[in-house]
Amino acid sequence: MSIKKNIEQIKESMPEDVTLVAVSKTKPIEFLEEAYTAGIRDFGENKVQELIEKFELFHKDVRWHFIGHLQTNKIKYIIDKAFLIHSLDSTKLLKELEKQCSKNQMQINTLIQINIGKEDTKYGFYEEQLNEVLNEVERCNYVKIKGIMVIIPKGNEESNRYYFKRTKNIFENIKKQKYQNVTMEILSMGMTHDYETAIEEGATLVRIGEGIFGKRI
Ligand SMILES: *Cc1c(COP(=O)(O)O)cnc(C)c1O
Repeated sequence: MSIKKNIEQIKESMPEDVTLVAVSKTKPIEFLEEAYTAGIRDFGENKVQELIEKFELFHKDVRWHFIGHLQTNKIKYIIDKAFLIHSLDSTKLLKELEKQCSKNQMQINTLIQINIGKEDTKYGFYEEQLNEVLNEVERCNYVKIKGIMVIIPKGNEESNRYYFKRTKNIFENIKKQKYQNVTMEILSMGMTHDYETAIEEGATLVRIGEGIFGKRI
């Protein structure tokens, strides 16, 4: 299967108002070029160094989505390159983002990452920590929250649906509360093996890697 064919098939299986982010981590620039030719403008990377390299080399009309854990000492390298940071996963990171953006007089758009299954192996806030971080966001001048990102625990379709539903609920609850600097527009959930269920449960953006570019080794 070609990258172009993969993209066409995925696009056919999803509504037009859902954003498809092609997760290009570990893949060479020629692969990204094929996806670009097939119409993809949103690319996802999870390593700062890799995002920077591809940013320099690649088309300038691309929107780069940072989807990995972001160390505070690397913020400065990507705040002017990432279109959206999906992985706001600690108040420490929030405060440091605010500081760096203030220094550069620039706004940054982020998603709060939720660890919905409370897994030790994953980053992100637990549901009961959200009030605290949202209160902190209200005091920011530069960091904006545009929605939520989740990586659900591995499981079957039924458990996937359960975690997507719970995340959608949290998304709607935060939306109702009308926090300063927070607009719930983007619900980033679903990857290669579960994106169709995620869309059924309200995802507005899906992050697909292997389904487009083939297996990562
Ligand atoms: C790698 C990655 C993806 C893509 O996963 P696939 O199974 O290859 O579709 C999506 N989201 C995040 C956060 C990732 O790290």
